[in-house]
Amino acid sequence: MKLTFTKLDTYKACPLRFRLKYQAKLREAPLRSRNLSLILHRTLQAFLFHARRDPSLNALLRTYETYCQQPQDIKQQQRYQEGRHALEVFHREQGDRLATAVALEQAFSVYLAGIEIAGRLDCALETEAGLELMDFKFTSQVPPSLDPLQLQLYSLGLKEVTGSTSDILTYYYLRQGKRVSFPGGEAAIQEGKDRVNGLVRRLQDEQEFAPSSGPWCGTCSYRRYCPTQRQHPDPIPPMLVQARLPL
Ligand code: SF4
Repeated sequence: MKLTFTKLDTYKACPLRFRLKYQAKLREAPLRSRNLSLILHRTLQAFLFHARRDPSLNALLRTYETYCQQPQDIKQQQRYQEGRHALEVFHREQGDRLATAVALEQAFSVYLAGIEIAGRLDCALETEAGLELMDFKFTSQVPPSLDPLQLQLYSLGLKEVTGSTSDILTYYYLRQGKRVSFPGGEAAIQEGKDRVNGLVRRLQDEQEFAPSSGPWCGTCSYRRYCPTQRQHPDPIPPMLVQARLPL
C-alpha cells in the first residue's frame, strides 16, 4: 500500500468516503471551481521555476495568460478577473521573496508505520525568520479550522530530500490572499510523524469504514450511498464492491 496525504486526510475525515473513493474507486464529481484552481496552480508552478531570472508581476501575469483561455462569456470573464486579482495580491505580498524559492515541486517519499507515504512540495522560501515551507491552496473557501498535519508531514519530506528543517510552516490560500502559518522545527516534524503513524495504524486495522459527517460532506460525491445523508441509501454498485476484493 502506498499513501498520500490526500488519502490520509480523506480517511481522517470520513472512513466511508475513503473506502468509496480509493478502494471502490468510485469517481468523484468534478467541482465547478476546479478549472480556475488548476490554472492558478500551473501558473504558480511555471512562474516560480523562472522567478530567479524574472520575478516581476508582468512575468507572473504573462504566465497566467498562457494557461488561461480567453474568456467567452461573463462568468468566464469573472473567473478570469478573480484569478488575475489573486495573482496580483499574491505578488504584491510575496513578490520580494519569490526569487528565493527552493525545493520547487520536489517529490518525496517517507516510511511511517511501515507504509510509504509520497508527496510533492510546492516550495520553500528563504526568509529573515528562517526557512518557510509553503503549500499553496486553491480552494474557493478557507476552511474554518486549519490543521497543520500536512505541513508537518511535508516538513519531514523536505528534510528527507534536502536535509533542511523548515522554521515556519505556511498554507497560502491564493484565491483569498490569506496566509496561515504554524511553527516549524523538529517538534513539528515529530508531531506530524506521531499523528501519521497513528492514522496509518488505524487504517491498517480498519474493518468498518463507518461514515463520519462534518463540513466536508458539502463536497462529497457519495451522499447517495451514505446513511448519514439518506434514510435509505443506494447500495454500492456490485462492480465497484468487486473492485476492492483481494486477488
Ligand atoms: S456524505 Fe459525509 S459522512 Fe457521508 S460519505 Fe460523504 S463525507 Fe462521509
